[in-house]
Amino acid sequence: MVLDNLGSSLRGTLETLQGKTRLSEEDVEAVVREIQRSLLQADVDVSLVMELSDSIKTRALKEEPPGGTSARDHVLKIVYEEMVAIVGESTEIPLEPQTILLAGLQGSGKTTSAAKMAWWFSKKGLRPAVIQTDTFRPGAYDQAKQMCERAEVEFYGDPDESDPVTIAREGLEATEDADVHIVDTAGRHGLEDELIAEIEEIEGLVSPDLSLLVFDAAIGQGAKEQARQFEEAIGIDGVMITKLDGTAKGGGALTAVNETDSSIAFLGTGETVQDIERFEPNGFISRLLG
Ligand code: GDP
Repeated sequence: MVLDNLGSSLRGTLETLQGKTRLSEEDVEAVVREIQRSLLQADVDVSLVMELSDSIKTRALKEEPPGGTSARDHVLKIVYEEMVAIVGESTEIPLEPQTILLAGLQGSGKTTSAAKMAWWFSKKGLRPAVIQTDTFRPGAYDQAKQMCERAEVEFYGDPDESDPVTIAREGLEATEDADVHIVDTAGRHGLEDELIAEIEEIEGLVSPDLSLLVFDAAIGQGAKEQARQFEEAIGIDGVMITKLDGTAKGGGALTAVNETDSSIAFLGTGETVQDIERFEPNGFISRLLG
């Protein structure tokens, strides 16, 4: 079955269905309760959890398990399908020349993620360059430069220039031989108007093929408002969830994906440039339910 590594209490509940060919309403309720508990713990938005619970209940009671399928496998399949409907498939990332714009709050992991993505593209045989337009956070330039050196990818930044739009423009010119441009932007503590105006201007200049929103896995319920505002300002095509090597499961990002009608592109799983994975629904769903 597709869902490995399920949490022990959900697995326990599913085991009690072993051997049954039909599910009672109580059986379905018990499974849904366990799922709700795991998802709420993983910071998935309450209304999303409710929506999901309703669709699982309706389908599990209405649809007959196909011949030869146990009630347990039948409900598990429904859970998986309904979860995929919410989590979505991975954001499509063509292996071709493109410009990627990164957005997110300060500390979300943007700068680290920019270098990680560049490393990822370089491993796929492309020639990436990172353009660092964050003139707001002290140290962003040095950090980005160092990480790009470690990733052995091209880097452009200008510690003497205070206008991010100028850096973006000059950066694109200076790295014109690169085929994938990853433009890192400044994050603030919140969604100040200034941050939004600045990123809109950068977006206008670089015309990204993909705009990715970077979230810390611990974002929780704050994801919704952030996603909405960035979506309105620049249009969000995908999400990168960082710090999944910690205890947070990143369920808040689902709210963002739902809000922006986008999908998850990458996962960050550590502090070094190699700690990046392409999103893959099965593992992520198992983790949310685990
Ligand atoms: P920015 O302000 O959004 O550019 O965030 P940074 O890239 O500076 O990241 C903030 C902190 O989070 C740094 O200490 C990074 O090393 C750390 N960080 C970023 N991504 C990850 C990750 O996937 N796992 C872990 N453990 N730490 C991360």
